[in-house]
Amino acid sequence: MLAAPELADILWPFFLLLGWEQARIDPGNTRFTPFDFVSYPWSHSLLMLCVWATAFGATYYAVTRYWAGAAAVWIGVVSHWALDWVTHRPDMPIYPGGPRYGLGLWNSIAGTMVAELLMFAVGLWMYVRATRPKDRIGRYAFLAYVVLLLVIYAGNAFGPPPDNVGEIAWAAIAAPIILIPWAWWFDRHRSAGLSS
Ligand SMILES: [Zn+2]
Repeated sequence: MLAAPELADILWPFFLLLGWEQARIDPGNTRFTPFDFVSYPWSHSLLMLCVWATAFGATYYAVTRYWAGAAAVWIGVVSHWALDWVTHRPDMPIYPGGPRYGLGLWNSIAGTMVAELLMFAVGLWMYVRATRPKDRIGRYAFLAYVVLLLVIYAGNAFGPPPDNVGEIAWAAIAAPIILIPWAWWFDRHRSAGLSS
């Protein structure tokens, strides 16, 4: 469930390193981020996200035979386009080489932080309501995860921009390798069921 909405950003650093997609560091590009997403048709166009969503959803279904989960995976992957469309300046392609759109919420630091932290809080609230810790890992590995995400968020928002695009790419490759297994780990130590 975390890998699906993140999929575009999991693929992106590989495509950057391969030279299939381009980004550059341009402080002030939007007020919230120093990145200029010059071109990312394969990881971030709406059409390709539908393709990736179908591939990921089908793989998920083949392994689990769980339709609702496969549908949630599909929606999760495509939702990346909708959310990036809200935050990015008009750099989100409909299809490779096609027109690009974006509402530019990142031009307002306050607006960005209110929208993003509110969504994070709602997601957390839903997860905390729907699961219960079975043990200390289920409680504290989850809490540490939430704190780490907030620290990373603050670092991205207020820290200095990275020196070069390679640095971003390697950080973007490392983050999901750590964060997705970590979420899987604490989630195994929480049980499903609405907490009272
Ligand atoms: Zn993205």
